[in-house]
Amino acid sequence: MTVTPTMKLPGAAKDAKPGNTKAGGGRESNLILGKARTDRPTREEAESAIRTLLLWAGDDPDREGLVDTPARVARAYEEFFAGYDADPVEMLNRTFEEVEGYDEMIVLKDIRLESHCEHHMVPIIGKAHIAYLPKNRVVGISKLARVVDAYAKRFQVQEKMTAQIANSIEDVLQPRGVAVVIEAQHQCMTTRGVHKPGVSMVTSRMLGAFRHDPLTRREFLTIIGNPASSVGA
Ligand SMILES: [Zn+2]
Repeated sequence: MTVTPTMKLPGAAKDAKPGNTKAGGGRESNLILGKARTDRPTREEAESAIRTLLLWAGDDPDREGLVDTPARVARAYEEFFAGYDADPVEMLNRTFEEVEGYDEMIVLKDIRLESHCEHHMVPIIGKAHIAYLPKNRVVGISKLARVVDAYAKRFQVQEKMTAQIANSIEDVLQPRGVAVVIEAQHQCMTTRGVHKPGVSMVTSRMLGAFRHDPLTRREFLTIIGNPASSVGA
């Protein structure tokens, strides 16, 4: 499935204008800006909820193998969902401006992506490819990988995540174009439900030159190995 460039996605980082990070009081805009909720339950409450799930699955949370499991799961969640405490706008705001007029395509491909489906809370594993055509400002490539993590390490749907990554790069760097393609496998499809392993979902978001110029788009898709012939068609 492809996210068309015209698709308006609620929660996409379109509102996250640099210098405007104080704006918007809604919960969704706070999440986009990388601000975590301040009204989170305590760790004890989280561990108790995990204990309830163990009971509900039919096991005994007091047996030896499971005694420390709620604490371990809570710690794992801190890693899986670290994106709520990350601020993609802040990451991208540190740019290099002296690039001797470099204005060719910059591509970062095969960025490992680990996320969780917001419908089933199970992993989405795949890779992201990002390209942009700089206009005055370039950003360290590790920053682009961090932006992927900032959005991936949340509860997500792949279409929204693809748009959020592209939109935040567009908003902060204001390049001549941005392209993001994500290929990923959803465990909610491979290990439950229809049980279809090996199926990858491909989403894309093309902005600026990548959207308007078929040659630019084709160059990018060739570099990343044409993950789906339908992308950008
Ligand atoms: Zn799912």
